[in-house]
Amino acid sequence: MKKDYYEILEVAKTASAAEIKKAYRKQAIKYHPDKNPGDKQAEENFKLAAEAYEVLSDENKRAQYDRFGHAAFEGSMGGGGFSMDDIFSQFGDIFGGHFSGFSGFGGFGRGSSQQQVYVKGENLRIRVKVTLEDIVKGTEKKVKVRRKVKGEGTTYKTCTTCNGRGQVMQQVRTMLGVMQTASTCTACGGTGEVIDKHDKDTDAQGLKTIEETISINIPAGVMDGIQLNMSGKGNEAPVKNSVPGDLLVLIEEQEHETLKREGDNLHYDLYISFPEAVLGATKEIETVTGKVRIKIDEGVQSGKILRLRGKGVPSLQGRAAGDLIIHVNVWTPKNLTDKQKAFFREMQDSENFNPNPDKNEKSFFEKVKEMFS
Ligand SMILES: [Zn+2]
Repeated sequence: MKKDYYEILEVAKTASAAEIKKAYRKQAIKYHPDKNPGDKQAEENFKLAAEAYEVLSDENKRAQYDRFGHAAFEGSMGGGGFSMDDIFSQFGDIFGGHFSGFSGFGGFGRGSSQQQVYVKGENLRIRVKVTLEDIVKGTEKKVKVRRKVKGEGTTYKTCTTCNGRGQVMQQVRTMLGVMQTASTCTACGGTGEVIDKHDKDTDAQGLKTIEETISINIPAGVMDGIQLNMSGKGNEAPVKNSVPGDLLVLIEEQEHETLKREGDNLHYDLYISFPEAVLGATKEIETVTGKVRIKIDEGVQSGKILRLRGKGVPSLQGRAAGDLIIHVNVWTPKNLTDKQKAFFREMQDSENFNPNPDKNEKSFFEKVKEMFS
């Protein structure tokens, strides 16, 4: 009597697709031939679990099985119809490729016996502080980085465990005969090489730490949190066939004293005196690219916005540079002398001093709305 598929996977008849998948994964790991070399019962269980999963993971097949039991598939599949190859081909789906993947160093690609396996060294991370001046003009920063490199005297020899293939073959007896499965050589991590000799100033992996000055090109327009990737400037890997890791540079933007950045635009708060607002003035503004002179018309209102096109931050994406946006603030004096107060009292009753905004003078809210549209 053939065992019930639900019993094989140890799930309820009402189990969801996700539960079935999880249950199969558990069984497959438990009875995997790599884990149970030469165990015939484990092999049988491994195949049965695969067969059960094949049916229960397919909506139509599961419905047929629920109605007719094993009779539903009599003659078509069942018992001996399942090869190890079929089972392993299911694994991409179930294990996301990790099951037969490599362990050990990071960054392996899957290699066969003919293929060279290149190992990538560890990435290094540093933070670099940049000013607004750096960001507007672009800059080059020299940083000292401690990184691991191979010693000159480090030599490698062919791994004797796998004879340089990087994989070890295992023979598994199945119902269809003896089959071979490949797994990564644990002695060399799949590279086929192990360390032979190394200098005294290197560690057991043949690596030593050096301090290197690396110059980093920081393009104009970068912003806080951006990561620049310096390929090959990370640690070297402790194997022969390898490429160094990367140096990942995290940009940390420092705030400017007077200019506030908003995307590619810069904002500047300009304070003018009461007489300047009344009479008009020419003001000089210090920007990151030098001084800018701007003309303030007589009768300017507090809150007026002046926009200097292209005087903001260059675009990292190659668009036009941002603008420098100047916010005019009229500074109201606080500590006036009696004489000055008398002067303003005299002016107070003058009709010219009554607020009377004309239609062209937009309110603060309208200006803000305009700026963001
Ligand atoms: Zn090996």
